[in-house]
Amino acid sequence: MNRARLGGSHKYPRHLLPFASYSPIFLQFFFILLCRTPVRLPTHLDFDAIRVPAMADSPVELPGRLAILPFRNKVLLPGAIVRIRCTNPSSVKLVEQELWQKEEKGLIGVLPVRDLEAGAVGSLLSPGVGSDSGEGSSKAGVSPVETSKQDTKNGKEPIHWHSKGVAARALHLSRGVEKPSGRVTYIVVLEGLCRFSVQELSTRGSYHVARVSRLDMTKTELEQAEQDPDLIALSRQFKATAMELISVLEQKQKTVSRTKVLLDTVPVYRLADIFVASFEISFEEQLSMLDSVDLKVRLSKATELVDRHLQSILVAEKITQKVEGQLSKSQKEFLLRQQMRAIKEELGDNDDDEDDVVALERKMQNAGMPANIWKHAQRELRRLRKMQPQQPGYSSSRAYLELLADLPWQKVSEERELDLRAAKESLDWDHYGLTKVKQRIIEYLAVRKLKPDARGPVLCFVGPPGVGKTSLASSIAKALNRKFIRISLGGVKDEADIRGHRRTYIGSMPGRLIDGLKRVSVSNPVMLLDEIDKTGSDVRGDPASALLEVLDPEQNKTFNDHYLNVPFDLSKVIFVATANRMQPIPPPLLDRMEVIELPGYTPEEKLKIAMKHLIPRVLEQHGLSSAYLQIPEAMVKLIIERYTREAGVRNLERNLAALARAAAVKVAEQANTLRLGKEIQPITTTLLDSRLADGGEVEMEVIPMGHDISNTYENPSPMIVDEAMLEKVLGPPRFDDREAADRVASPGVSVGLVWTSFGGEVQFVEATAMVGKGDLHLTGQLGDVIKESAQLALTWVRARAADLNLSPTSDINLLESRDIHIHFPAGAVPKDGPSAGVTLVTSLVSLFSNRKVRADTAMTGEMTLRGLVLPVGGVKDKVLAAHRYGIKRVILPERNLKDLTEVPSPILSGMEILLVKRIEEVLDHAFEDGCPLRLRSKL
Ligand code: ADP
Repeated sequence: MNRARLGGSHKYPRHLLPFASYSPIFLQFFFILLCRTPVRLPTHLDFDAIRVPAMADSPVELPGRLAILPFRNKVLLPGAIVRIRCTNPSSVKLVEQELWQKEEKGLIGVLPVRDLEAGAVGSLLSPGVGSDSGEGSSKAGVSPVETSKQDTKNGKEPIHWHSKGVAARALHLSRGVEKPSGRVTYIVVLEGLCRFSVQELSTRGSYHVARVSRLDMTKTELEQAEQDPDLIALSRQFKATAMELISVLEQKQKTVSRTKVLLDTVPVYRLADIFVASFEISFEEQLSMLDSVDLKVRLSKATELVDRHLQSILVAEKITQKVEGQLSKSQKEFLLRQQMRAIKEELGDNDDDEDDVVALERKMQNAGMPANIWKHAQRELRRLRKMQPQQPGYSSSRAYLELLADLPWQKVSEERELDLRAAKESLDWDHYGLTKVKQRIIEYLAVRKLKPDARGPVLCFVGPPGVGKTSLASSIAKALNRKFIRISLGGVKDEADIRGHRRTYIGSMPGRLIDGLKRVSVSNPVMLLDEIDKTGSDVRGDPASALLEVLDPEQNKTFNDHYLNVPFDLSKVIFVATANRMQPIPPPLLDRMEVIELPGYTPEEKLKIAMKHLIPRVLEQHGLSSAYLQIPEAMVKLIIERYTREAGVRNLERNLAALARAAAVKVAEQANTLRLGKEIQPITTTLLDSRLADGGEVEMEVIPMGHDISNTYENPSPMIVDEAMLEKVLGPPRFDDREAADRVASPGVSVGLVWTSFGGEVQFVEATAMVGKGDLHLTGQLGDVIKESAQLALTWVRARAADLNLSPTSDINLLESRDIHIHFPAGAVPKDGPSAGVTLVTSLVSLFSNRKVRADTAMTGEMTLRGLVLPVGGVKDKVLAAHRYGIKRVILPERNLKDLTEVPSPILSGMEILLVKRIEEVLDHAFEDGCPLRLRSKL
């Protein structure tokens, strides 16, 4: 064997050299071209590339016989290049004998072979004959031939040769020896040159040879054919399609532009084969291309295939673009997210959302939710996990889960063994008086002690502001060692305030009760429903009906808040309600509650409350003690008399706080004259003086927060509040006993008693007459009932004018050429109710008789047209109000006698209560010298 050949330096025929030198460029070009498009070459044949055949060689001279290399289910087309690895003994033999050992490399024939199972028999014809030794022959004509695959004598499966093949020449040969078997293999690079048809097939040793005839046209034939207008049109169409394909490919890679040169330089009949050879098409299509000997047929078939390929590229392109678009969107999101994370890290704000959700889940697990609610929460959590934090709905879903996790599903404050005596002591310690109320609370607690799950009534404290309703409720919580939460219901008109908004609403949130429980974070607090009488109802639903459910022990086990949307057990909550008045509370709601009334305090009670409770508390709140400020009893009395006129003690507390504030400032102001406490270092300048004499820097000493001012400075003598200080701090007295006397100084003014949500009040009624046409004018924001009362009063007075000595005879019109104006100060406060009837009559009689009403007498009572006085409500508060005003006599309807038992006896003992049945009696008491009736005996 020639060693030089083994090294791969196989000597090529001269005419092949140019190809050998430039073919790598083409190989590379086509390789790139084909790899970048969806078209792939049949790899199992090592089909490396396609190249342009040597144009100078065209058409190729064919020898009469060709050694035949079978191509299983593949077709080599003219212009294509294949790399074949020959391992089969017969093809190894063929390569060795026909190519490797020959100095001048000839041509071999590549003939497609069809596997039987490869499908339709199509143009296959049988039988074909082969000989096992020497040169057996088989005439096959134009038909495909069939021989046994290797050795017909062995009866092996037959080979179905195609009747047409392509002559090829070797561009490159390399030989290898497999180790350790020593088997020889060849790798051959073949270039397809021209078509032939098999005339006769025979064997030469172990491989086949065939007598062939060339099928491609000769040069002259070609030249003639090229004149054919049909062919010209077909080739133009083919080129256009090919051009289109090229330009599509060109967008992907610039090198394709070189392919355009091919279109101009390579003859069109070759181009058709070259283009088709580069596509992945079925074997049948390859065969039909091979069989297309006629130029026109070949061109139209190639045009069809190129076009199909072009379309498939376009479709693939479209799909790729779509996929790329989607990819780039998610990639963009990913990128932005990465950036955001980086920014957060940079800001030190790296609370990862994912970590957050994990933390939330942990919190939810520890919340002790009932099983069904836990399931519901998990479902919601799964939803949250699927959402992006930027997605709408994420934050609301999160807030909802946070609420679920925060709610005290099981957490309770440990109720310690209830010590009733301690509870009583605590109530006494915090509140002065209120004996009955405290007793009732102790009873309530005692029942709870004996039967902790007793469905006791809901306590409802009713009374004017500042009488200690809230603080009593918080004392109950303290006695039970439970947390206390106050839910303000004042002005709640929307049912959703109690029950929450459904989560479908934007900005929805839970109701006040659930929110309160979240804040207090135990499920058994004492919950104060404050101002339950101030809930109203309108189009947005009725909060009272929602409260009914809350207070009903049967229903509140599964209280359904619309936002929460899962039941929550409120049965462990102890509800206490407060109200200023009972009347506005809807009856069904009132029915669920036990009303405990807290009347207003007498001045004496207020004084005691102030001395025992309010002053120590106020001093402590202001960092003072009695060593720095003393408020003598007499001064507290003055505050009660001159600066407050209320049922409760809230304003009193406020005034005391004002004194404490002023004292605190004074203590601080006097700092430089005071000796500092031992534990405080001296400061170089005063605390308040920010300017130094020499204009230098300000030096300040910082007093630690929460430090008691009283500890900072040693006060040499306590500050004692006197009248002067009262006036200085609280201003001139706001009320005095002489107010009533001053106001009733002229005829036409009477003193009434009314009832407001602040308790009882003294209400003056002013009447005046002027020239007019007999009209009645009413002012002072009056309601319909009170207006009618005024009308009624005027009618009664006019009807009894003569009897009352208001006119000489009964036929004289009292309103003759004059108008009456009645006014109720204070003009800005709305007033209504029938109880001003007697006051109105008194005022009118006073006006017409020109006599002053007694300043020490106040009255209340509804009157009828016939002059009867009917009972009214709020007697206790009204009497207390009169007492506050320093009024000594109160005229009341007789039928209100029973109500007087509620009035504290110290008040009653200092007052004269005048009970009346008829209006004449009222007048009798209201004027200094009795009723101006002519016929007293008639009464
Ligand atoms: P309400 O809820 O009835 O409007 P609060 O309970 O807020 O009134 O009471 C106002 C202030 O008056 C609180 O500081 C409370 O401690 C005090 N107070 C009311 N009544 C008494 C009382 N009988 N003894 C001691 N302090 C009282």
